Amino acid sequence: MKTLKIANIPGDGIGKEVVPAATEILKTLSDIHGGLRFEFTSFPWSCEYYLEHGKMMPEDGLERLKDFDSIFLGAVGNLKLVPDHVSLWGLLIKIRREFEQVINIRPAKVIDGVRSPLLNPKDFDLIVVRENSEGEYSSVGGKIFQGEDEIAIQNAIFSRKGTERAMRYAFELAKKRRKHVTSATKSNGIFHSMPFWDHVFEEVSKDYPEINTDSQHIDALSAFFVTRPERFDVIVASNLFGDILTDLGAAIMGSVGIAPAANINVNGKFPSMFEPVHGSAPDIVGKGIANPIGQIWTAKMMLDHYGEEELGGILLNVIESVTRDGILTPDIGGKYTTKGVTDEINTRLKAID
Ligand code: ATP
Ligand code: MG
Repeated sequence: MKTLKIANIPGDGIGKEVVPAATEILKTLSDIHGGLRFEFTSFPWSCEYYLEHGKMMPEDGLERLKDFDSIFLGAVGNLKLVPDHVSLWGLLIKIRREFEQVINIRPAKVIDGVRSPLLNPKDFDLIVVRENSEGEYSSVGGKIFQGEDEIAIQNAIFSRKGTERAMRYAFELAKKRRKHVTSATKSNGIFHSMPFWDHVFEEVSKDYPEINTDSQHIDALSAFFVTRPERFDVIVASNLFGDILTDLGAAIMGSVGIAPAANINVNGKFPSMFEPVHGSAPDIVGKGIANPIGQIWTAKMMLDHYGEEELGGILLNVIESVTRDGILTPDIGGKYTTKGVTDEINTRLKAID
């Protein structure tokens, strides 16, 4: 029997609605599997917690999380209670940084029954591996001169270690998929960092002769997401390019409410964190209509991460059978509630033996 210890942090807003829904689904999956158990511990860390305690999580919060296999997070942020920079830096970003979750991965795929803006949505099935710790989002730089001569300088940091580990992660993922990695570059316009990125990509790819590769400039690549999605399997991108591509991916999926994501710790020293792309959605909180699919699909990523791809595959098939039958929340054009969709997924899973 394999036991996975999961720290649930529902957080704010609809996080509190969709994390319990996804947890219920994971419990059903554990029954189906037989050899896999989840041990959930829930932590109330959120903006409401902040109002009571003056911080987003207790002083020893990270210490309490560090021995879990993974963190299953809903959403963080409630602007009515706490400014975003306080809530995000006090919880979400703190965990990502301290637990060295240096890679962000986001699968994007159009599933049956969900309308996508693409003409050939069935061809859209890819994963973006985003370097999540360095690159363009650095604090190195500054301003010089004043007045009309004022200049802002922003340095991007690309370390060999950081670049290589993102690329290796992408190649390892591709082994389990359609064996293709695309590198998102811009070495025709960026002078130092992107030629380096290309060079490291070329080097790393030599260790994976079974994987096909190509390298595309980010501008063309973004256009091909829309016009030629069949070209892509796994894409490895820097922090900035990955940020843009993943939002584009979620939009093509049809709703931010179904898009899953994970923050991966690759050195095995700390837990990884699984959280959907969407935020706390204050405009629909309490109405019972939040789409639970983003959080449930995120649970599938957690299963994949622990080598339970078969179970993850079963879950995604059931999700797709439910959307195909028009059992949809309002964000994707339906009339069903969070509970309605969750119950349907649960019932169909239980019918599998
Ligand atoms: P953040 O700042 O945390 O990234 P945000 O405020 O930019 O988040 P969301 O909280 O994700 O964005 O909400 C954006 C829009 O998408 C809102 O109109 C929200 O209601 C909708 N939305 C987000 N998640 C869901 C969901 N799971 N189901 C239905 N609608 C959702
Ligand atoms: Mg927000």
